[in-house]
Amino acid sequence: MDYVIVGTAGHVDHGKTELVKALTGINTDRLKEERERGISIELGFAPLQFSNGQRVGLVDVPGHEKFIKQMLAGVGGMDLVMLVVAADEGVMPQTQEHLDIIDLLQIKKGIIVITKSDLVDADWLELVREEVREAVRGTVLEEAPMIAVSALTGHGIPELKSLLQEMVAKTPPKSLAGKVRLPIDRVFSITGFGTVVTGTLWSGKVKLGETLQILPEGLQTRVRSLQVHGQQVEEALAGQRVAINLAGIEVSEIARGSVVVSPGALFPSHRIDAELHLLQHATELENRDRVRVHVGTSEVLGRVVLLDREKLQPGETAFVQLQLENVLVSAKGDRFVIRSYSPMHTIGGGVIIEPKAERHKRFNRQVLDMLATKLQGTPEELILEALNAGEPAFLTREALAEKTNLPLPSVDETAEALKAAQKVTEIAAEGSCWLAARLRYEDIVEQVRQMLGEYHQRHPLRPGLPKEELRSRKFSQWGAKLFNALLQTWTETGFLRVDGNYIALQSFTPTPDEAEQRLLSQIERHFLDNKFQPAEWSELTGRLKLNEETAGELLRYLLWKGILYKINEELYFHRVALEEAKDLIASYIKEHGSVQLGEVRDLLNSSRKYVLPLLEYFDQIKFTKRVQDKRILF
Ligand code: GDP
Ligand code: MG
Repeated sequence: MDYVIVGTAGHVDHGKTELVKALTGINTDRLKEERERGISIELGFAPLQFSNGQRVGLVDVPGHEKFIKQMLAGVGGMDLVMLVVAADEGVMPQTQEHLDIIDLLQIKKGIIVITKSDLVDADWLELVREEVREAVRGTVLEEAPMIAVSALTGHGIPELKSLLQEMVAKTPPKSLAGKVRLPIDRVFSITGFGTVVTGTLWSGKVKLGETLQILPEGLQTRVRSLQVHGQQVEEALAGQRVAINLAGIEVSEIARGSVVVSPGALFPSHRIDAELHLLQHATELENRDRVRVHVGTSEVLGRVVLLDREKLQPGETAFVQLQLENVLVSAKGDRFVIRSYSPMHTIGGGVIIEPKAERHKRFNRQVLDMLATKLQGTPEELILEALNAGEPAFLTREALAEKTNLPLPSVDETAEALKAAQKVTEIAAEGSCWLAARLRYEDIVEQVRQMLGEYHQRHPLRPGLPKEELRSRKFSQWGAKLFNALLQTWTETGFLRVDGNYIALQSFTPTPDEAEQRLLSQIERHFLDNKFQPAEWSELTGRLKLNEETAGELLRYLLWKGILYKINEELYFHRVALEEAKDLIASYIKEHGSVQLGEVRDLLNSSRKYVLPLLEYFDQIKFTKRVQDKRILF
């Protein structure tokens, strides 16, 4: 679950970097200047490992007002924020500004961490708690848990760590089906390797060797190597901190704020339609005021065109067009922040409605209606959004209606259109049906394919992956009904086969290698030579000097192939032996009406030790039936 990004926020000198150090053991102030001046200037990164092995990326942001731009670059990809407030100082200007930004960007999961608790007494701490509670009222952090710690004494750090662990565990994984989008927060070069960029992967997955695009520069590049948390990987997933070594790109060609994307996924634009909220404590905004627009890790200057009024008052929200001096790469639904041109303060923000907009007439009803509809989303968008958000990936039409607030007939109609356009896939079985976003569905199929492929490779003798293992390893959140519907669909489409309790790729056949084949022949020989008095399984495998694992694999294979049959825990009979025994017993019973244990023993030239369990087996499979001390045919 390395797909969650946790970050800091808060006023300068309030102990963010010390806190990160206390949690991870890493000092994120890497620059010489940072260490000398004792303040963070750049974003810092450290992996945080929990006791259960889970790992998350930690982003440490600078608190000084001069470095809000860096802070904004770091906060964009965060899933969970720790708002840090020093107990001796309480709420300060950048506590407020960072809180505004968290609220504008709607980072909904957070913990309020009161640091330096060693510097104050209990009464004072209580006052600070109240002050902070007051400050977060009405923001996304209103309900956030609050915890007092000291990085100096370690007080509260273990509790904070377990709280983080708990909240991280509840953070759903991001959809991996989307296109790659990685806003770059650092660019540097490594001798011998060339250009490396880092950032938080917002969506999709990056694969080694794949061709990507860098915007707004419009450069083509290839992923030469890839790291997550300092380790080489073949694939990086949405929500991870990623470093990419880019082929054929000079450091001077790109900068923080550039975005790495799947080719064609996004486009740079000068004009963006948005809904803008002006902060309560900002000053009024006039039409065409010059502001700084922040999206992801980029900052662009531009003017705010107010589409339905001359002035935007503090606390108000309105439709605007951002007319930018440089191109910006954004997507519908992105949250953004605006800061005043000079002096630089965070004054507002909102959500992007149209990332590549036309020029609009102001005070035009049609334009405003169009923006309102787009903001709310078309039924298609709402449904796709619901199908791409979190788990489960499959929803019934009823669940979709509930999630989107659309009436059921509208969901039905839209679902049909989306199916026709191949944007959603429908899974139907046993009178129920579910919808999934097609790309996401294909991703799931691919994951299953990979998982089965790996399993077959590791266990070439086994008939397949046990059904329950597939479900618990990958799809435990699915109901049994959906799981079975998928298996049914995948069987029908020839993707896989269900073989009793095992699931295998259609193309797979268990195949013993030469050594295994030799052993299998030896074993089979033994069972044919000793049809009615075979050795116990453990004795036989002991004689052949097989270890437990190999013995288990071979036995499973022989059972699956129908060569051996299990009579009891230690006793197995060859198929041929069973057939012969059945024939002999059946004709005996036909001739004499019934058969007794001793008679079977003589028929098979065997002994009581084998015949007793064998007859019980025959009763059990309903070949024979016991009547007092005799057996008749069932
Ligand atoms: P940042 O600007 O928020 O990253 O703050 P730093 O982590 O750099 O800490 C600022 C100063 O506060 C440093 O001198 C730290 O040693 C000190 N400091 C940080 N945490 C604590 C703490 O829990 N107790 C005490 N007494 N000092 C602390
Ligand atoms: Mg710092």
